[in-house]
Amino acid sequence: MTDLAAAVDRLAAGSLVAFPTETVYGLGADALSASAVRNVFQIKGRPATNPLIVHVADTAMARQVVADWPEEAERLARAFWPGPLTLVLPRRPELPAEVTAGGELVAVRCPDHPLTLELLRRFGRPLVGPSANRSGQVSPTTAAHVDFPPDQVLVLDGGPCRGGIESTVLALNPPRILRPGLITSRQLAQVLGREVQQASAPQSASPGQLERHYAPHTPAVLVQAEDWPAVRAGARRIALLASQELEPSAEVFLPMPADPRGYAERLYAGLREADDAGVELIAVLAPQGEDELWTAVRDRLRRATVRFEKP
Ligand code: AMP
Ligand code: MG
Repeated sequence: MTDLAAAVDRLAAGSLVAFPTETVYGLGADALSASAVRNVFQIKGRPATNPLIVHVADTAMARQVVADWPEEAERLARAFWPGPLTLVLPRRPELPAEVTAGGELVAVRCPDHPLTLELLRRFGRPLVGPSANRSGQVSPTTAAHVDFPPDQVLVLDGGPCRGGIESTVLALNPPRILRPGLITSRQLAQVLGREVQQASAPQSASPGQLERHYAPHTPAVLVQAEDWPAVRAGARRIALLASQELEPSAEVFLPMPADPRGYAERLYAGLREADDAGVELIAVLAPQGEDELWTAVRDRLRRATVRFEKP
């Protein structure tokens, strides 16, 4: 049996399948089955108040879960789907309440990965797909990073993820970004022909956005370059994630790309490598760029780390 056929069988039985996307690996379950959706919350240890994104093969499948498909949604889907844009729209009543954490709105997106698009087409039903990690921990960007028992979660290996961080979440009427991601407000505004509000910093407006999230097991701090000598002096074994080496040198230096797209792609794998390096502290040099993609990167970094406080 092919992996895809086995995956469809598992989903039909209400079981879970981890699937590749262009952002991170998702933990898939039949979005129209309340018990399958409950399995996802349970295995992740995800708070029931944190709604799930529904993954669809196309706009026709999106209409299985949304009550209304406005013209602006159609324009955005034409421009960005498949791709890292999640749209928040009124839900259909038959969608299990667990998916939306009891709310009236549902988040939908069409992931840009051929294997997962084929899975969605063959299964013929939408899939919930939060990141395939335990709640609060670092999102997986390779199949090997999906860490659940194989009898409970079948992993479809589609190679490393290209995008690296989660999708942009957009609410409509008026258009506003609830979670920053790989698609920027400028790109969205160009398609809509009107202004798109950026995520209100520092706390974004999306429900379920946890202050501590995407976090490695090892304590991690976000540092400014001028604080580095003090941070370095305070720990014997330290890993530094940064676009340039700093003096005095760290035990473990994990070079990060200097451009936001490259940085995003490397971010979670970098945090995992730092976690596996056996250090007592992970330091991340705060990136300074103005580009909106840096905002998305900094949003993830802020949740993955604590800020360094001067002694
Ligand atoms: P993830 O944890 O990457 O699966 O993304 C789920 C996130 O999408 C949630 O934490 C919310 O920020 C956002 N989201 C999901 N459903 C909704 C919704 N119905 N309304 C607003 N934001 C949502
Ligand atoms: Mg997640």
